[in-house]
Amino acid sequence: MYELNFDVQKCLHCPTHACLTRCQHMDIDRDTAGREILKIAAGEDSFVLHDCLTCYACEEYCPMGNHPFYLIVKRQEELNVQPLPRPLIQRGINIGKPFRGEPKINKVNGRALLMGAFADHMFLIQGRLFEGLPVISDDPRKMFHYFCQLMYLHYARISVINERLPGVIETITRHNVTEAICFHDECYGTYTSYCPSMGIEVPFRTVHFFEFLYNRLVELRNLIRPVNLRVAYQRPCSSRLSPGKLRFVYDIFKLIGAEAVQRKYVGRNALCCGGIIEGQRREGSRKRASEIQGLNISDMKDAGAEVCVFNCPACYHTLAHLVEKEGIRPIFMSDLCRLAIGEQPAGWR
Ligand code: SF4
Ligand code: SF4
Repeated sequence: MYELNFDVQKCLHCPTHACLTRCQHMDIDRDTAGREILKIAAGEDSFVLHDCLTCYACEEYCPMGNHPFYLIVKRQEELNVQPLPRPLIQRGINIGKPFRGEPKINKVNGRALLMGAFADHMFLIQGRLFEGLPVISDDPRKMFHYFCQLMYLHYARISVINERLPGVIETITRHNVTEAICFHDECYGTYTSYCPSMGIEVPFRTVHFFEFLYNRLVELRNLIRPVNLRVAYQRPCSSRLSPGKLRFVYDIFKLIGAEAVQRKYVGRNALCCGGIIEGQRREGSRKRASEIQGLNISDMKDAGAEVCVFNCPACYHTLAHLVEKEGIRPIFMSDLCRLAIGEQPAGWR
Protein backbone atom coordinates (compact mmCIF):
# COMPACT_ATOMS: atom_id res chain seq x y z
CA MET A 1 0.00 0.00 0.00
CA TYR A 2 1.58 3.26 -1.12
CA GLU A 3 0.82 6.62 0.45
CA LEU A 4 1.22 10.03 -1.12
CA ASN A 5 3.84 12.13 0.63
CA PHE A 6 1.90 15.41 1.03
CA ASP A 7 2.82 17.75 3.88
CA VAL A 8 -0.09 19.92 4.97
CA GLN A 9 2.27 21.96 7.17
CA LYS A 10 3.84 23.32 4.00
CA CYS A 11 0.43 24.60 2.88
CA LEU A 12 -0.26 26.15 6.28
CA HIS A 13 2.93 28.19 5.95
CA CYS A 14 2.77 28.71 2.20
CA PRO A 15 3.29 32.35 1.21
CA THR A 16 1.71 32.02 -2.26
CA HIS A 17 -0.78 29.13 -2.64
CA ALA A 18 0.51 29.25 -6.20
CA CYS A 19 -0.76 25.73 -6.94
CA LEU A 20 -4.25 27.16 -7.36
CA THR A 21 -3.78 30.92 -7.82
CA ARG A 22 -1.72 30.21 -10.97
CA CYS A 23 -4.18 27.66 -12.40
CA GLN A 24 -4.93 28.70 -15.99
CA HIS A 25 -8.35 27.07 -15.97
CA MET A 26 -9.89 28.44 -12.77
CA ASP A 27 -9.92 31.97 -11.43
CA ILE A 28 -8.90 31.52 -7.79
CA ASP A 29 -7.68 34.22 -5.39
CA ARG A 30 -5.16 33.58 -2.65
CA ASP A 31 -7.58 33.24 0.26
CA THR A 32 -9.78 30.83 -1.65
CA ALA A 33 -6.75 28.85 -2.80
CA GLY A 34 -5.47 28.51 0.77
CA ARG A 35 -8.88 27.41 2.01
CA GLU A 36 -9.57 24.92 -0.79
CA ILE A 37 -6.18 23.18 -0.74
CA LEU A 38 -6.53 22.67 3.02
CA LYS A 39 -10.02 21.23 2.53
CA ILE A 40 -8.70 18.84 -0.10
CA ALA A 41 -5.79 17.86 2.15
CA ALA A 42 -8.28 17.17 4.97
CA GLY A 43 -10.26 14.78 2.75
CA GLU A 44 -13.13 17.17 2.02
CA ASP A 45 -14.83 17.96 -1.27
CA SER A 46 -13.96 21.18 -3.12
CA PHE A 47 -15.07 22.80 -6.38
CA VAL A 48 -11.43 22.34 -7.48
CA LEU A 49 -11.95 18.56 -7.66
CA HIS A 50 -14.86 19.07 -10.06
CA ASP A 51 -13.43 21.87 -12.22
CA CYS A 52 -9.83 20.64 -12.55
CA LEU A 53 -8.97 19.91 -16.19
CA THR A 54 -6.06 17.65 -15.13
CA CYS A 55 -3.38 19.70 -16.86
CA TYR A 56 -0.69 18.72 -14.27
CA ALA A 57 0.56 22.33 -14.05
CA CYS A 58 0.04 22.82 -10.29
CA GLU A 59 2.73 20.19 -9.72
CA GLU A 60 5.14 22.71 -11.26
CA TYR A 61 3.58 25.80 -9.65
CA CYS A 62 3.98 24.55 -6.07
CA PRO A 63 7.29 26.02 -4.92
CA MET A 64 7.52 23.54 -2.03
CA GLY A 65 7.47 20.28 -4.03
CA ASN A 66 4.26 19.32 -2.26
CA HIS A 67 2.46 17.42 -5.06
CA PRO A 68 -0.89 19.28 -5.17
CA PHE A 69 -1.96 17.61 -8.41
CA TYR A 70 -1.39 14.08 -7.09
CA LEU A 71 -3.38 15.13 -4.02
CA ILE A 72 -6.27 16.42 -6.17
CA VAL A 73 -6.38 13.16 -8.13
CA LYS A 74 -6.22 11.03 -4.99
CA ARG A 75 -9.15 12.95 -3.52
CA GLN A 76 -11.14 12.81 -6.76
CA GLU A 77 -10.90 9.04 -6.64
CA GLU A 78 -11.74 8.78 -2.94
CA LEU A 79 -14.77 11.06 -3.30
CA ASN A 80 -15.84 9.47 -6.59
CA VAL A 81 -15.46 12.67 -8.62
CA GLN A 82 -15.24 11.51 -12.25
CA PRO A 83 -13.20 13.73 -14.58
CA LEU A 84 -14.42 11.60 -17.54
CA PRO A 85 -17.65 9.70 -18.12
CA ARG A 86 -17.48 6.36 -16.29
CA PRO A 87 -17.61 4.11 -19.44
CA LEU A 88 -14.62 5.98 -20.89
CA ILE A 89 -12.71 5.51 -17.66
CA GLN A 90 -13.42 1.79 -17.66
CA ARG A 91 -12.48 1.42 -21.32
CA GLY A 92 -9.24 3.37 -20.81
CA ILE A 93 -8.30 1.27 -17.79
CA ASN A 94 -8.83 -1.96 -19.73
CA ILE A 95 -6.74 -0.79 -22.69
CA GLY A 96 -3.64 -0.10 -20.58
CA LYS A 97 -3.55 -3.47 -18.75
CA PRO A 98 0.11 -4.42 -18.76
CA PHE A 99 0.13 -8.15 -18.27
CA ARG A 100 -1.18 -9.83 -21.45
CA GLY A 101 1.24 -12.47 -22.76
CA GLU A 102 4.95 -12.38 -22.03
CA PRO A 103 7.31 -9.75 -23.46
CA LYS A 104 10.65 -10.93 -24.87
CA ILE A 105 13.29 -10.02 -22.29
CA ASN A 106 16.59 -9.09 -23.96
CA LYS A 107 19.33 -8.57 -21.37
CA VAL A 108 20.73 -5.10 -21.89
CA ASN A 109 23.22 -4.95 -19.00
CA GLY A 110 23.53 -1.19 -19.23
CA ARG A 111 21.58 1.71 -20.67
CA ALA A 112 18.66 1.40 -23.05
CA LEU A 113 15.99 3.50 -24.68
CA LEU A 114 12.61 2.84 -23.06
CA MET A 115 9.75 3.40 -25.52
CA GLY A 116 7.06 2.82 -22.86
CA ALA A 117 3.66 2.58 -24.57
CA PHE A 118 4.97 4.11 -27.82
CA ALA A 119 6.50 1.05 -29.51
CA ASP A 120 4.48 2.09 -32.56
CA HIS A 121 6.70 5.21 -32.80
CA MET A 122 9.89 3.28 -33.58
CA PHE A 123 9.86 5.10 -36.96
CA LEU A 124 11.30 8.04 -34.99
CA ILE A 125 14.21 6.01 -33.62
CA GLN A 126 16.30 6.02 -36.79
CA GLY A 127 19.67 7.29 -37.95
CA ARG A 128 22.94 8.18 -36.30
CA LEU A 129 21.46 9.64 -33.13
CA PHE A 130 20.37 6.18 -32.06
CA GLU A 131 23.22 4.05 -33.45
CA GLY A 132 24.20 1.26 -31.08
CA LEU A 133 21.49 2.08 -28.53
CA PRO A 134 19.49 -0.94 -27.31
CA VAL A 135 15.73 -0.41 -27.20
CA ILE A 136 13.23 -2.01 -24.87
CA SER A 137 9.50 -1.99 -25.57
CA ASP A 138 9.84 -1.95 -29.36
CA ASP A 139 7.04 -4.50 -29.93
CA PRO A 140 3.61 -2.81 -30.22
CA ARG A 141 1.89 -6.07 -29.21
CA LYS A 142 3.67 -6.07 -25.84
CA MET A 143 4.12 -2.35 -25.21
CA PHE A 144 1.65 -2.15 -22.34
CA HIS A 145 4.06 -4.22 -20.23
CA TYR A 146 6.16 -1.03 -20.28
CA PHE A 147 3.32 1.48 -19.99
CA CYS A 148 4.07 3.71 -16.98
CA GLN A 149 0.31 4.02 -16.30
CA LEU A 150 0.57 7.70 -15.32
CA MET A 151 -2.09 8.58 -17.88
CA TYR A 152 -4.61 7.40 -15.28
CA LEU A 153 -4.02 10.64 -13.38
CA HIS A 154 -6.35 12.07 -16.02
CA TYR A 155 -8.88 9.38 -15.04
CA ALA A 156 -8.70 9.96 -11.25
CA ARG A 157 -7.37 6.45 -10.77
CA ILE A 158 -4.28 6.58 -8.56
CA SER A 159 -5.22 3.10 -7.33
CA VAL A 160 -4.76 1.66 -10.85
CA ILE A 161 -1.35 3.31 -11.20
CA ASN A 162 -0.19 2.04 -7.82
CA GLU A 163 -1.47 -1.45 -8.47
CA ARG A 164 0.23 -1.86 -11.85
CA LEU A 165 3.36 0.27 -11.74
CA PRO A 166 5.53 -1.99 -9.52
CA GLY A 167 5.00 -4.82 -12.07
CA VAL A 168 6.00 -2.51 -14.93
CA ILE A 169 9.17 -1.52 -13.04
CA GLU A 170 9.91 -5.20 -12.45
CA THR A 171 9.56 -5.96 -16.20
CA ILE A 172 12.02 -3.17 -17.05
CA THR A 173 14.40 -4.38 -14.36
CA ARG A 174 14.38 -7.90 -15.83
CA HIS A 175 16.22 -6.45 -18.84
CA ASN A 176 19.14 -5.58 -16.52
CA VAL A 177 18.73 -1.93 -17.39
CA THR A 178 20.92 0.33 -15.29
CA GLU A 179 19.92 3.52 -17.10
CA ALA A 180 16.61 3.98 -18.90
CA ILE A 181 16.41 6.83 -21.41
CA CYS A 182 12.70 7.64 -21.39
CA PHE A 183 11.30 8.33 -24.87
CA HIS A 184 8.16 9.83 -23.35
CA ASP A 185 8.46 12.41 -20.61
CA GLU A 186 5.43 10.91 -18.89
CA CYS A 187 7.63 7.86 -18.16
CA TYR A 188 10.41 10.16 -16.99
CA GLY A 189 7.97 12.02 -14.71
CA THR A 190 6.68 8.70 -13.38
CA TYR A 191 10.08 7.46 -12.27
CA THR A 192 11.51 10.76 -11.05
CA SER A 193 8.46 12.52 -9.56
CA TYR A 194 5.50 10.20 -9.05
CA CYS A 195 7.39 7.18 -7.69
CA PRO A 196 9.34 9.17 -5.06
CA SER A 197 6.12 10.96 -4.03
CA MET A 198 4.49 7.56 -3.39
CA GLY A 199 7.51 5.73 -1.96
CA ILE A 200 7.70 3.36 -4.97
CA GLU A 201 11.25 2.13 -5.46
CA VAL A 202 12.87 2.55 -8.89
CA PRO A 203 15.98 0.40 -9.18
CA PHE A 204 17.38 2.03 -12.35
CA ARG A 205 18.52 5.52 -13.26
CA THR A 206 16.47 7.53 -15.74
CA VAL A 207 17.51 10.02 -18.40
CA HIS A 208 15.18 12.49 -20.09
CA PHE A 209 14.94 11.96 -23.88
CA PHE A 210 15.89 15.57 -24.62
CA GLU A 211 18.98 15.33 -22.42
CA PHE A 212 19.99 12.24 -24.39
CA LEU A 213 19.35 14.01 -27.73
CA TYR A 214 21.36 17.04 -26.62
CA ASN A 215 24.31 14.91 -25.54
CA ARG A 216 24.23 12.93 -28.82
CA LEU A 217 24.17 16.15 -30.82
CA VAL A 218 27.21 17.36 -28.91
CA GLU A 219 28.97 14.09 -29.83
CA LEU A 220 27.96 14.58 -33.49
CA ARG A 221 28.68 18.30 -33.45
CA ASN A 222 30.78 18.10 -36.63
CA LEU A 223 27.74 17.00 -38.62
CA ILE A 224 25.46 19.84 -37.48
CA ARG A 225 24.40 22.43 -40.04
CA PRO A 226 22.08 25.19 -38.72
CA VAL A 227 18.46 24.42 -39.57
CA ASN A 228 17.63 28.16 -39.66
CA LEU A 229 14.02 27.64 -38.66
CA ARG A 230 11.79 29.74 -36.40
CA VAL A 231 10.30 27.26 -33.98
CA ALA A 232 7.63 27.03 -31.26
CA TYR A 233 7.74 24.21 -28.73
CA GLN A 234 4.52 22.43 -27.70
CA ARG A 235 5.09 21.64 -24.04
CA PRO A 236 3.16 18.52 -22.91
CA CYS A 237 1.29 18.22 -19.62
CA SER A 238 3.64 15.55 -18.28
CA SER A 239 6.65 17.87 -18.64
CA ARG A 240 5.22 19.70 -15.60
CA LEU A 241 6.65 16.81 -13.59
CA SER A 242 10.21 17.51 -14.76
CA PRO A 243 10.43 21.28 -15.29
CA GLY A 244 14.20 21.21 -14.75
CA LYS A 245 14.58 19.38 -18.09
CA LEU A 246 12.91 22.14 -20.12
CA ARG A 247 16.28 23.78 -20.54
CA PHE A 248 17.33 20.99 -22.91
CA VAL A 249 14.67 22.17 -25.38
CA TYR A 250 16.39 25.53 -25.66
CA ASP A 251 19.90 24.05 -25.47
CA ILE A 252 19.04 21.84 -28.45
CA PHE A 253 17.53 24.74 -30.40
CA LYS A 254 20.66 26.81 -29.79
CA LEU A 255 22.96 23.99 -30.83
CA ILE A 256 21.18 23.34 -34.12
CA GLY A 257 20.49 26.95 -35.11
CA ALA A 258 16.73 26.95 -34.49
CA GLU A 259 15.29 30.23 -33.25
CA ALA A 260 12.70 29.86 -30.46
CA VAL A 261 10.10 32.53 -31.21
CA GLN A 262 9.00 34.86 -28.41
CA ARG A 263 5.64 33.66 -27.17
CA LYS A 264 3.06 34.41 -24.49
CA TYR A 265 2.17 30.77 -23.81
CA VAL A 266 5.60 29.40 -23.08
CA GLY A 267 7.42 27.81 -20.13
CA ARG A 268 5.22 27.94 -17.02
CA ASN A 269 2.49 29.67 -19.05
CA ALA A 270 2.43 26.97 -21.72
CA LEU A 271 -0.97 25.70 -22.81
CA CYS A 272 -1.61 21.99 -23.11
CA CYS A 273 -2.66 20.47 -26.43
CA GLY A 274 -6.27 20.20 -25.27
CA GLY A 275 -6.53 16.49 -26.19
CA ILE A 276 -7.52 15.33 -22.72
CA ILE A 277 -9.94 18.22 -22.25
CA GLU A 278 -11.62 17.37 -25.57
CA GLY A 279 -12.00 13.76 -24.41
CA GLN A 280 -13.53 14.68 -21.04
CA ARG A 281 -16.90 15.10 -22.72
CA ARG A 282 -18.20 17.37 -19.99
CA GLU A 283 -20.57 20.15 -20.79
CA GLY A 284 -18.50 22.76 -22.62
CA SER A 285 -15.28 20.73 -22.66
CA ARG A 286 -15.04 20.62 -26.46
CA LYS A 287 -15.51 24.37 -26.60
CA ARG A 288 -12.86 24.90 -23.91
CA ALA A 289 -10.41 22.59 -25.71
CA SER A 290 -10.92 24.43 -28.94
CA GLU A 291 -10.48 27.82 -27.20
CA ILE A 292 -7.18 26.65 -25.70
CA GLN A 293 -6.00 25.28 -29.04
CA GLY A 294 -7.01 28.53 -30.77
CA LEU A 295 -5.10 30.69 -28.24
CA ASN A 296 -2.07 28.45 -28.44
CA ILE A 297 -1.85 28.26 -32.23
CA SER A 298 -2.60 31.97 -32.75
CA ASP A 299 0.21 32.70 -30.31
CA MET A 300 2.62 30.52 -32.34
CA LYS A 301 1.50 32.18 -35.55
CA ASP A 302 1.67 35.75 -34.20
CA ALA A 303 5.18 35.03 -32.94
CA GLY A 304 6.20 34.02 -36.46
CA ALA A 305 6.78 30.28 -35.91
CA GLU A 306 7.41 28.27 -39.08
CA VAL A 307 7.60 24.96 -37.22
CA CYS A 308 5.91 23.49 -34.14
CA VAL A 309 8.18 21.06 -32.30
CA PHE A 310 6.62 18.19 -30.37
CA ASN A 311 7.77 15.99 -27.55
CA CYS A 312 4.65 13.90 -26.89
CA PRO A 313 2.97 11.72 -29.56
CA ALA A 314 -0.44 12.43 -28.02
CA CYS A 315 0.08 16.21 -28.41
CA TYR A 316 1.28 15.58 -31.97
CA HIS A 317 -1.82 13.61 -32.88
CA THR A 318 -4.07 16.27 -31.35
CA LEU A 319 -2.42 19.41 -32.70
CA ALA A 320 -0.31 18.57 -35.78
CA HIS A 321 -3.16 18.88 -38.29
CA LEU A 322 -4.38 22.09 -36.62
CA VAL A 323 -0.99 23.82 -36.78
CA GLU A 324 -0.58 22.65 -40.39
CA LYS A 325 -3.86 24.35 -41.28
CA GLU A 326 -2.26 27.59 -40.09
CA GLY A 327 0.84 27.07 -42.23
CA ILE A 328 3.06 25.85 -39.39
CA ARG A 329 4.93 22.59 -40.03
CA PRO A 330 4.75 19.99 -37.22
CA ILE A 331 7.81 17.92 -36.32
CA PHE A 332 8.99 15.72 -33.46
CA MET A 333 12.09 16.99 -31.67
CA SER A 334 14.11 13.89 -32.63
CA ASP A 335 13.27 14.46 -36.31
CA LEU A 336 14.34 18.10 -36.02
CA CYS A 337 17.67 16.89 -34.58
CA ARG A 338 18.02 14.45 -37.49
CA LEU A 339 17.44 17.29 -39.95
CA ALA A 340 20.25 19.22 -38.26
CA ILE A 341 22.74 16.40 -38.86
CA GLY A 342 21.81 16.14 -42.53
CA GLU A 343 19.34 13.24 -42.34
CA GLN A 344 15.88 13.24 -43.93
CA PRO A 345 13.27 12.12 -41.39
CA ALA A 346 10.32 10.35 -42.97
CA GLY A 347 7.74 12.50 -41.20
CA TRP A 348 9.14 15.85 -42.41
CA ARG A 349 6.96 17.32 -45.11
S1 SF4 B 1 0.43 22.68 -2.47
FE1 SF4 B 1 2.26 23.93 -2.57
S2 SF4 B 1 1.65 25.88 -3.51
FE2 SF4 B 1 -0.21 24.82 -2.84
S3 SF4 B 1 -0.59 25.67 -0.82
FE3 SF4 B 1 0.55 23.75 -0.52
S4 SF4 B 1 2.70 24.37 -0.43
FE4 SF4 B 1 1.56 26.12 -1.30
S1 SF4 C 1 -4.15 20.23 -12.72
FE1 SF4 C 1 -4.31 22.11 -13.93
S2 SF4 C 1 -6.51 22.54 -14.00
FE2 SF4 C 1 -6.18 21.13 -12.29
S3 SF4 C 1 -5.91 22.45 -10.48
FE3 SF4 C 1 -3.86 21.92 -11.26
S4 SF4 C 1 -3.35 23.67 -12.59
FE4 SF4 C 1 -5.59 23.73 -12.30
